Amino acid sequence: MATVGVIGAGVMGKDVAITCAANGYDVILSDHDPDVLAAVPRDLRRLVRKFRMMSPAAAAWKTDEILGRIRYGADLGELAGADWIVENIVEDLAAKERLYLALRDVCGESVRIAVNTSCISITKLAACTPRPQNVVGIHFMNPVPLLECAEVVRGYHTSDDTIKQAEEFVRSLGKRSIVVNDMPGFVSNRLSHLFMNEAAFLVHDGVAGPEQVDAIFKLGYGHRMGPLETADLIGLDTVVNSLNVLYEEFQDSKFRACPTLKKMVAAGLLGRKSGKGFYTYADR
Ligand code: NAD
Repeated sequence: MATVGVIGAGVMGKDVAITCAANGYDVILSDHDPDVLAAVPRDLRRLVRKFRMMSPAAAAWKTDEILGRIRYGADLGELAGADWIVENIVEDLAAKERLYLALRDVCGESVRIAVNTSCISITKLAACTPRPQNVVGIHFMNPVPLLECAEVVRGYHTSDDTIKQAEEFVRSLGKRSIVVNDMPGFVSNRLSHLFMNEAAFLVHDGVAGPEQVDAIFKLGYGHRMGPLETADLIGLDTVVNSLNVLYEEFQDSKFRACPTLKKMVAAGLLGRKSGKGFYTYADR
């Protein structure tokens, strides 16, 4: 079976690693933070248990088999033999650019690189690599094992063959691809960050509390989750970083991040991953 190198072992990297391993891939999960790597085996076991309880499709998963297919590493060189690399590091253009420059010395000619970013231009990141035709956006949805689609993003130089391979890769993970063109935020996050930010402004302006805002979204419009629950799930730091990217790229004030969101991030209230955001979480 093919090998997938997953870079970044945060919210998304862990989910992507589990999803790939559950579908038979060998996985190398890499992160530059030794503390993150040390906590990963325990986190993955807890997550696999959670997904098995939450999804009938995952109920038959064999935890030890899945975890046995995942290796860990801090050194990018360990990814040299991977067929796919899925990059999930922090939503920061400069950090991602540095990583793609470092990957130049690691990746062979045939490796395909999937950028899992919320908003950053695929074309810009592909420009840091020697083979931009091999770079594609695969925007996985959170939580990855439970959601049915991935947004496949065609960068300026992405080849038709890379798009085809990305669609096959996504299909092999039991998901449907929706192919769109590159533009910051693509379809999903250009829309979702507007409603999450506006929901934060409603709380900021004292119009309603988080529970009321989310209840109207769910009960009034039939959405499964409210915008502030969604922001907590994504991570408020990632939401603010993504809004900053959109604001910078479009130079449009509609993307300016709500001050309450920025203040919460500064205070360490990052949502589900830190245990507190708009809501409090006993079990993360
Ligand atoms: P996160 O903050 O939870 O995790 C990021 C991880 O990357 C951290 O563990 C950090 O140590 C690691 N990292 C940072 N720089 C690194 C480097 N140079 N090399 C190796 N590891 C590095 O973030 P996340 O929520 O997992 O998001 C990751 C990416 O996925 C972002 O680009 C984000 O926009 C995108 N994304 C997030 C969601 C979501 O719901 N959270 C959904 C889709 C896409």
